[in-house]
Amino acid sequence: MTDCIFCKIAGGEIPAKEVARTDGAVAFHDLNPQAPVHLLVVPLTHLENAAATDSDEGARAMAAVMRLSVQVARQLGLEGTGYRLVLNIGKQGGQSVGHLHVHVMGGRQMTWPPG
Ligand code: AMP
Repeated sequence: MTDCIFCKIAGGEIPAKEVARTDGAVAFHDLNPQAPVHLLVVPLTHLENAAATDSDEGARAMAAVMRLSVQVARQLGLEGTGYRLVLNIGKQGGQSVGHLHVHVMGGRQMTWPPG
């Protein structure tokens, strides 16, 4: 999608601190980290959010994103301590970028309920 910042990162048009890439997804550091480790994992194809993944294509994108999320969590040493995966959906869900993404957050104790 032309004006989508995460499409541009996925396409290499704008830089990001990339940590891993597969043929379906890319993982990079969040610009405004909320935890000692805070990565974003996004599909290479544009989908608005998780609510837009109820299709064969969407399920493939979600599988690629979830698989890379657990891989980068392991790569960054979060597996032993635990970590949090977050998907924000729409306005009240707190979504600010309209391209499906998983937040991979760790390196500190998470609290519940989330804000
Ligand atoms: P959300 O609020 O769930 O839509 O999350 C969007 C996230 O994208 C926020 O945590 C932002 O800090 C992050 N973000 C926005 N632009 C960039 C960028 N160019 N590179 C890395 N992270 C970004």
